Amino acid sequence: MIFEGLSEKLQNTLSKLKSKGKLTEKDVKEAMREVKLALLEADVNFKVVKDFIKRVSDRAVGDEVMESLTPGQHVIKIVNEELTALMGSSQSKLTFSSKPPTIYMMVGLQGSGKTTTCGKLAKHLKKQQKSPLLVACDIYRPAAIQQLKTVGGQVDVPVFSMGDGTSPVHISKAAVEHANRQGLDTVIIDTAGRLHIDELLMEELQQIKAAVKPQEILLVVDSMTGQDAVNVAEQFHEQIGIDGVILTKLDGDTRGGAALSVRAVTQKPIKFAGIGEKIDEFEPFHPDRMASRILGMGDMLSLIEKAQSNIDLKKAQELEKKMRTQQFTFDDFLDQLQQMKNMGPLSQVLQMIPGMGGKQLKNLEVDDRELVHIEAIIQSMTREERSNPGLINGSRRKRIAIGSGTSIQQVNKLLKQFEQTRKMMKQFMDMEKGMKKGGRFK
Ligand code: GDP
Repeated sequence: MIFEGLSEKLQNTLSKLKSKGKLTEKDVKEAMREVKLALLEADVNFKVVKDFIKRVSDRAVGDEVMESLTPGQHVIKIVNEELTALMGSSQSKLTFSSKPPTIYMMVGLQGSGKTTTCGKLAKHLKKQQKSPLLVACDIYRPAAIQQLKTVGGQVDVPVFSMGDGTSPVHISKAAVEHANRQGLDTVIIDTAGRLHIDELLMEELQQIKAAVKPQEILLVVDSMTGQDAVNVAEQFHEQIGIDGVILTKLDGDTRGGAALSVRAVTQKPIKFAGIGEKIDEFEPFHPDRMASRILGMGDMLSLIEKAQSNIDLKKAQELEKKMRTQQFTFDDFLDQLQQMKNMGPLSQVLQMIPGMGGKQLKNLEVDDRELVHIEAIIQSMTREERSNPGLINGSRRKRIAIGSGTSIQQVNKLLKQFEQTRKMMKQFMDMEKGMKKGGRFK
């Protein structure tokens, strides 16, 4: 999960404040010391941490506490706002040139995820009704051209290549002409990477930049490399000038240092995040949502967006109706599970729900394999049993367990959970009705 260690430590520290009615200067100081340690352990740049702590401390003492908040909540609010500011305040979108094609030049070290990210970006642009062209300019690693072609095939985007015998400068120019001729409105250039920054690489990138004048130079950095990623970003920026950063591998057990320092050090925004190896595991980077996720306040907006692009609206409406009339059955449960699976690994989805970060998630031990068992159990029920679970007596439970390759205990557990869910829904519905009566929710 995202920034697990950092998230847990910050949440622990801040929850200690939350419970206090009054905060002394000593409380704040102690909390800030813990926040500082947590950030340093997450490999955040030392200077960035120092500035951050100073800003939060100044505000915690100086700001007037909003009436609706306790002093502890107020400090949490400040930390949330400052974390957001650290990562760039608001989402920084891609820009497009007024005269197509818009050219994006992708740069970064070998292994950072550049080629994969080219494909992800192409898919993202296609979703925005653009017609991208991928350009293979990494002529030094023979497999790179093939890799880009494979990625292009996956997202159904053409790949322009001239093999490995032509200079990257020439290839990039020819690619732009090709895009013009074919009416393709965006060009994504996959440049060569090295294991380390070297002069030859930088020279080549400068030449490509001069030849095609890209709208944006996007630096791809591996967030797992922490502060090294930030050093790389600094050097790339100094030598060729970058317009934005794409952080990859935010799904791994990255500590958070890169995400939290790269913007402050380079003054360039993080535009996207790679959150998995698959082509659609890619999302625009929202500093505010990321800060909320780190502090365990959830990220309902991303969750809703994810749901909107994956959930069948008609089905969702039907489900809501069933919930209202309390006709929710195991068939609906199965349907819901399948829709949830479309949204990605359960742990990733749950992380976005407020209060579901860190420890809570661990206690829940969400395991996608468990979903498979649940599905199997439901599929082993008869139609009558699915719509009327009350029927499921001892011998039926045994039959279902055998049929689904699970145990009677697992079947019992699911039946119990289902009953609880039904009860909870009823409570929600009654609560909502009560509120409506009481004049709210109008
Ligand atoms: P390049 O050398 O910079 O072009 O890097 P590649 O695109 O070949 O990627 C290097 C490795 O990182 C591959 O195994 C990718 O699947 C993997 N990778 C890229 N982006 C992500 C990401 O966001 N998350 C994870 N987990 N792996 C990624």
